[in-house]
Amino acid sequence: MAEVQEKGTISIHTENIFPIIKKFLYSDHEIFLRELVSNAVDATQKLKKLSSLGEFAGEAGDLKIEVSFDKDKKTITVSDKGIGMTAEEIKKYINQIAFSGAAEFVEKFKDKTDAKDIIGKFGLGFYSAFMVSDNVEILSRSYKATEDEAARWVCAGSTEFELFTAKKETRGTDVILHINADSEEFLDEWKLKGILEKYCKFLPVEIKFGTKEESVEDGVDSEGKPKHKTVTLDQIINNPSPLWTKAPSELKDEDYLKFYKELYPFSEDPLFWIHLNVDYPFNLTGVLYFPKVKNDFELQKNKIQLYSRQVFITDEVKDVVPDFLMMLHGILDSPDIPLNVSRSYLQSDASVKKISQHITKKVADKLAELFKKDRKDFEKKWDDIHIFVKYGVISDEKFYDRAKDFALLKNTESQYLTFEEYKEKVKPTQTDKDGNVIYLYTSDAGKQDSFIQAAKARSYDVLLLDGVLDNHFINTLEQKLEKVHIKRVDSEIADKLIDKDEKMESVLSKEEQDQIKSVFEKAIANKNMTVTVEPLSPDELPVVITMSEFMRRMKDMAKLGGGGGYSFMGNMPDSYNVAINGNHPIVQKMLKADAEDQKVRLAKQTYDLALLSQNMLTGAELTNFIKRSVEFVS
Ligand code: ADP
Repeated sequence: MAEVQEKGTISIHTENIFPIIKKFLYSDHEIFLRELVSNAVDATQKLKKLSSLGEFAGEAGDLKIEVSFDKDKKTITVSDKGIGMTAEEIKKYINQIAFSGAAEFVEKFKDKTDAKDIIGKFGLGFYSAFMVSDNVEILSRSYKATEDEAARWVCAGSTEFELFTAKKETRGTDVILHINADSEEFLDEWKLKGILEKYCKFLPVEIKFGTKEESVEDGVDSEGKPKHKTVTLDQIINNPSPLWTKAPSELKDEDYLKFYKELYPFSEDPLFWIHLNVDYPFNLTGVLYFPKVKNDFELQKNKIQLYSRQVFITDEVKDVVPDFLMMLHGILDSPDIPLNVSRSYLQSDASVKKISQHITKKVADKLAELFKKDRKDFEKKWDDIHIFVKYGVISDEKFYDRAKDFALLKNTESQYLTFEEYKEKVKPTQTDKDGNVIYLYTSDAGKQDSFIQAAKARSYDVLLLDGVLDNHFINTLEQKLEKVHIKRVDSEIADKLIDKDEKMESVLSKEEQDQIKSVFEKAIANKNMTVTVEPLSPDELPVVITMSEFMRRMKDMAKLGGGGGYSFMGNMPDSYNVAINGNHPIVQKMLKADAEDQKVRLAKQTYDLALLSQNMLTGAELTNFIKRSVEFVS
């Protein structure tokens, strides 16, 4: 046992710092390992730096960091071969700096409850060891010191420490944690491996954790076949030079795809990616991948991961990445993001804002480039990426300004047109009498087929806008595009979709129209159905049921709960317009029928057919309709 060299009290005003640290960090105990391994990496990189500057003349040797544990002794040890610390340096860096950081931390956050991520900012990294330990030892030999000049520091989680002179064969630092009774779960190979893989997977210095057996070739046997033998190798848990740290010019597509698989095993290949590499005015590297996204908001389990100098910080990137890009995958690495501060601070942080804007710009540039380079290929990808683009268009003014030249509108013929191309295409046929261009769309091509066909018969184009975001997208388009109105194809009878001056002549007299109207009102007997008689072409359907665009939007808004004054509409029954085609031959048949009930039966039958074409006929109504139909054909 070495002679006690020094006993002292750590200079600090706040006596009971450890209970406070423990309380604040409660939910994140496992980060002690991240903090200690990061310190080991820093110390190793400092040594490399000194070596390259010629300040350290010795042999750097194997610089692997090792994490080990001993279940019986209840210890976890992090060892590095970095620059180490002299006793003086331990006093300066561990006792004073860390504790003044701790004091500041306690002062600032004693009344706050959201401070659990604060640790690194105040130089408390090392002290996170006390979340899981009764006792922490540092055994360190500075690169300047001899074997006999090492230092041992011991602290039992109070402000008292002891410092000894010690012997240490190798350069660098061992931090030995004597794990407390509440934290014994960490004395487990899989637990530790899991934590290392989470936080340290891409740290820039090799990290050894245990060993593994591997079969390797060992010469050839008498028949010339290769022989194998089993060897024990260090188990290295990290990839010290991950893809995003390399120059894009050195990388091929395969490398990006391989790295994607490394990040998200079992996932489908991404569509394309962006390699970020910024030095100024902030530092940001990373790769963002565009995955294939289904047409609904499935909860994405693969998330963007945030790193700071290759240390994993979090996969909650909410405030760093604009919302609409949260569905991207990949890595962002920036030492400029203040990772260890609270959320609200992050949102107002200037470099975070700049980073977020930069990412938006890069994504838009990439999409614009793909669009320009190969329009056909871009169209092929559109179904997989439209959700990002639309979300961006809706939520981000700046993104809209860039996206308006490459965002596509898809019609029911599977043509893809830019906003401008589309306007040019439909202008000649779809301009109304007030000079507004009316875009028609379907939200469900199957259900609304009869309306689509009726629109097409008039040479109108119908857009396919059937995604979850399309309601919002339509609103944004209407706001942005001048003199453009957008209507669902079933919001009016085809004749009225585009309000032009020319009208069909009616073959019915005013009296006949009134008579037909009252027959239908009797047949329908539903006050939520407003009946009108319209002069349509004889080959149109006899009855068409529509809900006005205005009404439907109000109801949609009420459903979303964001309708301002429209929430009352949520409780109102759906109300429809029932347009009777006065020029249809069936109307003549009805007028000529002798008995009133025969007229009503005919009206009921044609009305039910209209309901049927829109999937609105159900239950007893449907049963009655089928019965009646059988009678008609018998
Ligand atoms: P931070 O890492 O944020 O500076 P820490 O409390 O984790 O705060 O560490 C305080 C200081 O102690 C470090 O800045 C470094 O100078 C020193 N230190 C900690 N761990 C090591 C180590 N393994 N090797 C050398 N120096 C270390």
